Amino acid sequence: MNWDIASLFSDDTAEDRQFRAEVRDWVRDNAPPELCHQRHRIAPPELKPWHHKLYERGWAAPHWPKQYGGMGATLMQQIILFEEIVRVGAPTPYPHGLNFIGPIIIQAGTEEQKARFLPGILSGDSTWCQGYSEAGAGSDLASLQTRAVLDGDHFVVNGHKMWTTNGHYADWMFALVRTDPEAKPRHAGITMLLIDMKSPGLTVRPIQTLKGDSEFAEEFFDNVRVPKENMLGGLNQGWRIAGMVLGGERFTTGHPRYALVYLRQARQLAKQTGAWDDPGFRHRLTTLEIDLLGFLAYYRHAAKLHSAKAAPVSMAPVIKIAGGTLAQRSADLLMQAAGAQGPMIDDISLSGDAVNVASELFEMRRVSVGSGTTEVNRTIISKRVLELPDA
Ligand SMILES: Cc1cc2nc3c(=O)[nH]c(=O)nc-3n(C[C@H](O)[C@H](O)[C@H](O)COP(=O)(O)OP(=O)(O)OC[C@H]3O[C@@H](n4cnc5c(N)ncnc54)[C@H](O)[C@@H]3O)c2cc1C
Repeated sequence: MNWDIASLFSDDTAEDRQFRAEVRDWVRDNAPPELCHQRHRIAPPELKPWHHKLYERGWAAPHWPKQYGGMGATLMQQIILFEEIVRVGAPTPYPHGLNFIGPIIIQAGTEEQKARFLPGILSGDSTWCQGYSEAGAGSDLASLQTRAVLDGDHFVVNGHKMWTTNGHYADWMFALVRTDPEAKPRHAGITMLLIDMKSPGLTVRPIQTLKGDSEFAEEFFDNVRVPKENMLGGLNQGWRIAGMVLGGERFTTGHPRYALVYLRQARQLAKQTGAWDDPGFRHRLTTLEIDLLGFLAYYRHAAKLHSAKAAPVSMAPVIKIAGGTLAQRSADLLMQAAGAQGPMIDDISLSGDAVNVASELFEMRRVSVGSGTTEVNRTIISKRVLELPDA
């Protein structure tokens, strides 16, 4: 199997090939070496200069329309850009602004909201976080309790959000709040608000993860006043607005890049440790590589349909489940390749590079939960596609 990602998408047109060459040269000259192949989580402030470089080159938001500063790029160009950045081990900008809320503001925001928020998202000057989950509302998001009550020109927000990626770094949060507690069904009483993270009454506390970093935060809202003009998409329209994001999010979570990287590392590492001599190991590796090739073909097909807004409802959940499971199986195999060194806290040296196997294994556990848990995505398939009755 050829591990150059570029070769996996071999039907690029002449323009695509030219674009790939242009991106490859630019990324080689501009990707910051100190951010490449990092195993620790790169916090938004560290990432900002790289985001800004991409912005200045016009490549921060390939999928945004040109009129809002994007590239209006074809799907293939988006894939090429993404792959060439990942290829040198460089990080991509966080998705919360550019991929999640930016496109929603473009579709559903007022002209004032577009003028106010899109430039900062594009340049990376403003960091965004997603305020959906609460202690009692994760999979069952429609049960969220954070209340917003209209008081003159402001909403007054009270409640608690948690598991907010980058909440402690963010300048802004796009939050789902309950504006009609009597609404039936429950999701008909939810509104999306854009909340300034420096608002009086808003307390942010980082949460330490098993991996040892503080990716998440929780937020406490105590009579936080949010101007009415920061409502996005209309009163009690939040559920519909939020739905615009989740399909795309599942494509990001299920992307094959993790499995590609882990299988390549597992192959190299197994030769170093001797795990390669075990026919059982080689059998598992080959099986995974075959599964990955099949998934790559499906992912590409699904991404094309998704960008043409023609993807059936099952595709995003299938991508999340299949891509996520493959990534986890590949991280497990990497642990087997490492043998006795695997559970160590230290990095393992790998052909001039280094890998922290235990940390990658932990990293992949979270894929079961992000973008809707695997069980919830299975439920979507069973109900909406297979039309199975409730258990
Ligand atoms: C990496 C990562 C990043 C995240 N980033 C954010 C973020 O930026 N903003 C944000 O708002 N949230 C974020 N989250 C939170 C995430 O959305 C929630 O963790 C998720 O929705 C699950 O909710 P929960 O943790 O409350 O678990 P629960 O919903 O309590 O689920 C616990 C278990 O029960 C299962 N379960 C629940 N309901 C059912 C059912 N009906 N049928 C079968 N099984 C069920 C689940 O599959 C899971 O295994 C993030 C999570 C992760 C892992």
